[in-house]
Amino acid sequence: MDKPEKFIIDGIRLDGRKPDELRPMKIEVGVLNRADGSCYLEFGKNKVLAAVYGPREVHPRHNQKPTTAVVRFRYNMASFSVEERKRPGPDRRSIEVSKVSREAVEPMIFTEYFPKSAIDIFVEVLQADAGTRTAGINAASIALADASIPMRGLVSSCAVGKVDGELVLDLMKDEDNYGEADMPVAMTPDGEITLLQMDGNLTREELKKALEMATEGCKQIYKLQREALIGRYKKELEEHKEDVELVETITESEETSIESTTTVNIDESGGLDDE
Ligand code: ADP
Repeated sequence: MDKPEKFIIDGIRLDGRKPDELRPMKIEVGVLNRADGSCYLEFGKNKVLAAVYGPREVHPRHNQKPTTAVVRFRYNMASFSVEERKRPGPDRRSIEVSKVSREAVEPMIFTEYFPKSAIDIFVEVLQADAGTRTAGINAASIALADASIPMRGLVSSCAVGKVDGELVLDLMKDEDNYGEADMPVAMTPDGEITLLQMDGNLTREELKKALEMATEGCKQIYKLQREALIGRYKKELEEHKEDVELVETITESEETSIESTTTVNIDESGGLDDE
């Protein structure tokens, strides 16, 4: 598409969104049987798949760290994900995106729990429409939780850009191609920034406002990520309802028998005193 004359007409963007509106997001958790955790995510027209393996042995062995897990992140764009066929394999861009994506999620992982092991994260972009690194980080974060990797929280990510001199949340392809700035951000639920990049120019004031918009966007994404994860485990519980009920009955009867045989008193000094 050629550069449009205007990107915002009467306060509405070319794809019908308001300046501070995210593209619709669809999340499916646990879509791959062989991965320890996985997530398929659509963010507007972006389609990405994240798979997490580990904690597992590190190969080659010399890459292992004695006191923490190594986190590896591979972002890859499928040849068919863009309009003109992309040459398969890593390139400068995918190496950079892999690095910044790893740095965006790693601070949230309790790597110290798994010394000498590896946590591998793969993101495959199946369809790209600007913002694939943010989509990949959102999906990876969910896949890590799905793999039961202990984490401080989820990481959420979106970009803020500038078109027609106005700040807009979550750029789509044409806005990204012809816009004046593009600033991908990733954040923890506490608002700590784990990724901040920028193409183009923003004034100091614009940067401040852009960060506020990104924070609001990340909050909305966090809610969707959380709902998707809860939904996944609710479904699992429903499917195994009978097993869950059985476990509940067993644990209940065990608790009763433990209560009836042991009485634990707290003595005056605060210590435990078994009778
Ligand atoms: P992001 O996807 O995180 O926004 P970029 O800003 O580098 O990363 O890329 C913006 C968009 O440009 C991508 O989402 C994709 O649609 C397109 N793009 C990136 N690399 C290529 C490529 N090699 N061939 C065609 N289009 C590409």
